[in-house]
Amino acid sequence: MPAIDSGQRVHHCQVLLYNLSIFFELVAMYLCPHCKKPGISSVQKLCSVSYTPAVCTFCRRQSYLHVNTAIRALITWAILTWIFIGIALYEQMAIYMIGTIPALLLAVDKYMLRAQLHCL
Ligand SMILES: [Zn+2]
Repeated sequence: MPAIDSGQRVHHCQVLLYNLSIFFELVAMYLCPHCKKPGISSVQKLCSVSYTPAVCTFCRRQSYLHVNTAIRALITWAILTWIFIGIALYEQMAIYMIGTIPALLLAVDKYMLRAQLHCL
């Protein structure tokens, strides 16, 4: 956690972002399956499912995430979305649909970001 002196407002914002990033691990670096160093970013890890293999910043070797992790995340998100649709219909308040956004983050974090990368 970097120390910030330029105003309380910035400080609170940074603390909030830092805590959120720990909760969802969205800005974390992930261990490379080849060299075991944290050389793979979250975005690279998520994209390695279908588009491009993740390239380690330390050893430049490639790895990928198994497609099953993306399917699990998608199914979890779909189920949670239907639950929120059900609540929104039952309560007749569309605001409950906003719950699908944290549901997506949780599904991606739990099933994709925490999953093991494979060597290519
Ligand atoms: Zn590596």
